[in-house]
Amino acid sequence: IDFGFRQVNRADKAGLVRGVFDSVAERYDVMNDLMSGGVHRLWKAALIDWMAPQPHQTLIDLAGGTGDISQRFLRAGGGFAHITDINESMLVAGKKRRDLKALASQIDWCNANAEQLPFADNSADFVTIAFGLRNVTDREAALAEAHRVLKAGGRFLCLEFSQVDNAVLQRLYDAWSFSILPHMGQMVAGDAESYRYLVESIRQFPRKEVLADMFADAGFAQIRVRSMTGNIACIHSGWKM
Ligand code: SAM
Repeated sequence: IDFGFRQVNRADKAGLVRGVFDSVAERYDVMNDLMSGGVHRLWKAALIDWMAPQPHQTLIDLAGGTGDISQRFLRAGGGFAHITDINESMLVAGKKRRDLKALASQIDWCNANAEQLPFADNSADFVTIAFGLRNVTDREAALAEAHRVLKAGGRFLCLEFSQVDNAVLQRLYDAWSFSILPHMGQMVAGDAESYRYLVESIRQFPRKEVLADMFADAGFAQIRVRSMTGNIACIHSGWKM
């Protein structure tokens, strides 16, 4: 199945991604639960468990959207979170969240492209990107920036969809992705195109071994990968030495 997105060039991809998230921003959190059957919550919880944040630690969350990862990081005992995203509309939706208003003194909202971060070198204990790297046009630049802004001894974690490695699960997943998701998008958000983009961007994302190599090329060490739910999603972790 080719939705035509394969033909888009780099400049067009940035515009396409902007349009997708502008159109879903207000309904993003509800759609996330519906589309994943709530499973994204388990994956995000696994990410935070693996981080085991401490009160003196600072996070820069890339493609942070409405702030889910930062909310979990702070609730788990982290000190301060910079929620960054290229789409102001996602940050605006996040700022309305009651759970984040309660944590306002520990949060900085920042409209920024993951490829070019407005942070000093060696300034964060953690950098995360959850379901974001897939949408970034120049992924090598984003990984290089994550490495630059981390302190020595800091850690970068990426939670992202991956390629399912089981034939039965693949069939179920395809049925969900191609038949159910776009209809759900149409019904709830009035926007089937955005959900077609979502499915296609997942299919085109690098396999976990390739992403691990990209981490190594960006200078990360002690790279580890955790697969979740039959490889539907993976967490990659790497340290700046
Ligand atoms: N991390 C959040 C979460 O897990 O709920 C939001 C994920 S959402 C699927 C993807 C986000 O990536 C959107 O908010 C979008 O605006 C953002 N994004 C896309 N390209 C980006 C870029 N180049 N730099 C920063 N954010 C970007």
